Amino acid sequence: MANENNPQLEQQLRETATLGNGRALTGLSIAARASLSAHSLNNEGTINNEQIERIVNVVQDGEVVPVNAVSGDVLKHGFIDHLRALALGADGALPLCASCRRSDPNRINEDPQFQEALKGINKTENARVVDEVVRRCVIDDLGGLLVTQGNRNAPRRSVAQFGWLLGVPEHVRTERYTHIKLALGATEDDAEGSNRGQNLFKRPASSGQYAFVTQLALGRIGYNDISAKYVVEPAERARRASAALQALYLTLAAPTGAQRNTQLPHLQGAHGVVCFAFGTTPPVLFSPLEEGFENQMRDIANAFEQQRRSLALVEFASVAELGAILERATLWVGPARA
Ligand SMILES: [Zn+2]
Repeated sequence: MANENNPQLEQQLRETATLGNGRALTGLSIAARASLSAHSLNNEGTINNEQIERIVNVVQDGEVVPVNAVSGDVLKHGFIDHLRALALGADGALPLCASCRRSDPNRINEDPQFQEALKGINKTENARVVDEVVRRCVIDDLGGLLVTQGNRNAPRRSVAQFGWLLGVPEHVRTERYTHIKLALGATEDDAEGSNRGQNLFKRPASSGQYAFVTQLALGRIGYNDISAKYVVEPAERARRASAALQALYLTLAAPTGAQRNTQLPHLQGAHGVVCFAFGTTPPVLFSPLEEGFENQMRDIANAFEQQRRSLALVEFASVAELGAILERATLWVGPARA
């Protein structure tokens, strides 16, 4: 368990455990810069035979500049897929509704047992609806959703939050490459849309440094925000939180998204900082688009935390180190065992 080859990291983890002092983690945030090469994880659409990558505007030195990016939706989708796989492998220790079990995008709203349970709930009793959502499925508990059937408006806010994965200006580039499907002897006649002719198409490949931000409100797992009560017992909340940490790690370490069949991203490294919260102050974040973001995070955390001592920061210099940090954090998701 101890990081024998990395005494500096081990020291930071021990200091964090000391600061936590047996309290359960209420939240964590991660700010990282990751290097990815030749990926096409997120695209805007296709114009004729040309696929167009996502571009968003970011601030650089007070000016707005366009950069390649991967949406937070793609990242969250990856997180949910990893969480589903963990829950399916947990032998019933992590509950899944029937729809999430088969990756239905409507999640618990499509689950017949949930629909049946809703019939017995008055449409003004949103707290009871959220109780059902949180109890029945780890994905709906962590991913959140809106229940509108029966003319209601019962929201479950997401426990997991993701920003866009943003290319760092001047450290990211996209090129478009021509590919061809050779179909020797194919005729021009393709009136029935069979797509058997020869195709020429262009697809983007992007490479560079990307800024990644995420937050997990661990204290809200199994918690009903409307009734302000936990509806899942502590041992299961801890199991859900551990799975969330593992899924979050995989979201960065095993990126999911588009075009992975032929443009599997080359992940070449990541560095950054994890902020752990053990109290009511939420974990801090500062954009890794900026140089020196680790120090900025530390300064922000210290600004109000000198007396209260509820935030701890741990830096990582590789994807593997982030894994070691989040694995250790699974020991801090529930109250300390006597
Ligand atoms: Zn579900």
